[in-house]
Amino acid sequence: MSTCTIHWFRRDLRLADNPALTMASHHGKHRVIALFIVDDQLVDSPRVGPNRLAFLADRLRTLHAELQQQGSSLLIAYGDPAEVILQLCKKHGAAGVTWQADPAPWARRRDERVASTLQNNGVTPYIHDSQTIVPVTQVLTDKGTPYTVFTPYYRNWSRQLRIPAALPVPPLLPVAGIPSQPTWPNWPTTTVPLPDSRAATAQQLLATFTSQRINTYDDGRNVLAQAGTSGLSPYLRFGIISPQECARAAIAAQRLAPPTAARSGAEVWLSELAWRDFYQQILYHFPHVANYAFRPMYDDIAWDNNQNYFAAWCAGRTGYPIVDAAMRQLSSTGWMHNRARMIVASFLTKDLLIDWRWGERYFMQQLIDGDSAANNGGWQWSAGTGTDAQPYFRIFNPTSQGETFDPDGAYVKRYVPELANVPTKYIHAPWLMPPVLMREVHCLIGHDYPAPIVDHATQRAKALAMYKLVRPE
Ligand SMILES: Cc1cc2nc3c(=O)[nH]c(=O)nc-3n(C[C@H](O)[C@H](O)[C@H](O)COP(=O)(O)OP(=O)(O)OC[C@H]3O[C@@H](n4cnc5c(N)ncnc54)[C@H](O)[C@@H]3O)c2cc1C
Repeated sequence: MSTCTIHWFRRDLRLADNPALTMASHHGKHRVIALFIVDDQLVDSPRVGPNRLAFLADRLRTLHAELQQQGSSLLIAYGDPAEVILQLCKKHGAAGVTWQADPAPWARRRDERVASTLQNNGVTPYIHDSQTIVPVTQVLTDKGTPYTVFTPYYRNWSRQLRIPAALPVPPLLPVAGIPSQPTWPNWPTTTVPLPDSRAATAQQLLATFTSQRINTYDDGRNVLAQAGTSGLSPYLRFGIISPQECARAAIAAQRLAPPTAARSGAEVWLSELAWRDFYQQILYHFPHVANYAFRPMYDDIAWDNNQNYFAAWCAGRTGYPIVDAAMRQLSSTGWMHNRARMIVASFLTKDLLIDWRWGERYFMQQLIDGDSAANNGGWQWSAGTGTDAQPYFRIFNPTSQGETFDPDGAYVKRYVPELANVPTKYIHAPWLMPPVLMREVHCLIGHDYPAPIVDHATQRAKALAMYKLVRPE
């Protein structure tokens, strides 16, 4: 029986710059079983929806094609990971299994179980810590405790930043008995247009972004109608591109940029990648955040949780154009601009007075880039319940957010066609249009487009009272 190694692909669905896959190639003398396991517990979770599953299914197909170019293929197996992997080890004589560590609490529990099953059967697990740019256990305060505030975390993170040289695709020889075609998962499809899942596309996107748009990222990232951000989140979510490769490109762009505002674009983008690491270390060190507020006092908030308001928010029919455009961007593309995510999250919690967990779950169901750590961090930040969060009393005004970040209403008009003819002056508060103008632009508020379902000023006061009630004097 030939010796080989199994590489268990999870959130590292790439061949290049993949240290765990490179380890597999090394330990297996290039004979590697490239394995993906469909775990029904994850697939059937109420936090997973067709958009992310469809993108994952697509990526499995393109990953298989990329493996085929190397003379290998993807094996897709179904069932409990510990059982599946052990059976494969026995069948193919694999003496080692490699994977990339995942700091999420449920992933750690699963991986500990898999590792001990393997060890008990004489198989060595090789685990590489590369889901974040700096490992989650490495950035600690002088007292050895985790950071809960981003700025000092980032300072220390920057000091620890040592990015290894990029790894090429390792040699991958086929293993006898592995079928040349995988048994593809039968997952629900989606109607949203999916990003191209090939690794080369992710690399191209990174190259284009870091050679051009990164220089104006500092301001451009907040303009809702512009593609001012990288659009890399679905690729980073599934590890189609490595975060280390992104960091390398950011640092190179920083060196090349003129020493002015352009350089700060690259610096700010690198810090966004650090936010990604920050929230993964928060979930690692404080696993309770997955279900509860980071600050326990906020678990006592008596949310209104009005089902009709929630349905209007999901459907993009709140009567606040910027909120509705953002929610419709989500339902029609499976992605939402970061500024828009902040606006709708603030609106759900502090205007509609709905528990942040409802919104967090809805986002996980819809987002192609849905990532438990970043999503949880973003929601708790917006709700004011999290680490280093937006203070509870800072409540976005949806009208002025629209005016600032979508000044000509282009974003609103793209996603809310009912408002296509509304003049810029009224685009973020169309209910203020005089009735004669409403008729002229074919947009009767309450008929063609909803009237605001709540009054911002009234709800703001209610939210402040609601938060104050659970805070110590
Ligand atoms: C309520 C809310 C929910 C969010 N949910 C998710 C989520 O499920 N998945 C997700 O990847 N991001 C999430 N974010 C963070 C952010 O909105 C997205 O990462 C970003 O919009 C993705 O677009 P981009 O790739 O063009 O980002 P860029 O601006 O180009 O940033 C590059 C990368 O940095 C990381 N990043 C950027 N901002 C953040 C941030 N604030 N927190 C953590 N990582 C960040 C992402 O991996 C992103 O792809 C959420 C933010 C909020 C406010």
